[in-house]
Amino acid sequence: MTKKVAIVGAGFTGLSLGFDLSKSGFDVTIYEKCEAIGGLASTFETDGQKLERFYHHWFTSDQNVMTLIKDLGKESSIRIRNTNTGMYYANNFYKLSSLLKKYVVDKSYKNIDEIIMKETN
Ligand SMILES: Cc1cc2nc3c(=O)[nH]c(=O)nc-3n(C[C@H](O)[C@H](O)[C@H](O)COP(=O)(O)OP(=O)(O)OC[C@H]3O[C@@H](n4cnc5c(N)ncnc54)[C@H](O)[C@@H]3O)c2cc1C
Repeated sequence: MTKKVAIVGAGFTGLSLGFDLSKSGFDVTIYEKCEAIGGLASTFETDGQKLERFYHHWFTSDQNVMTLIKDLGKESSIRIRNTNTGMYYANNFYKLSSLLKKYVVDKSYKNIDEIIMKETN
């Protein structure tokens, strides 16, 4: 007989657990108190566009997320892009992605907007 499992909450944890358990043959029901699924990673609609409630990044080095995308068969829905993330502290830019590396090293930057324009155009 198939074992039944109830999961409370359709955030990332509940949904990914439900996915794993159903792959293992469990009969899964997920209960969610909000209208939309996704929890902290859910979206809301404005002007016909879906926006995240909070900003989120996935890194290609995160093998768990990359494997989950593959298992879900969603590879073709994901576009991987460079990020423009960095930190300015004590008159220096520090990279949080690869984008600002060369500017930190040779200090040829003038301002962050100029760097981002240069890299994204
Ligand atoms: C500003 C911000 C930025 C973040 N950036 C990143 C990022 O870049 N990369 C990343 O990997 N993570 C990021 N995170 C973390 C990520 O959002 C969370 O780790 C993840 O969404 C948590 O998922 P969860 O399912 O554990 O919890 P939640 O998303 O909180 O989901 C819990 C769900 O359970 C439901 N629920 C609660 N109680 C009940 C109940 N009694 N009955 C029914 N349903 C219930 C809630 O409504 C909710 O939908 C960020 C978080 C924040 C706030």
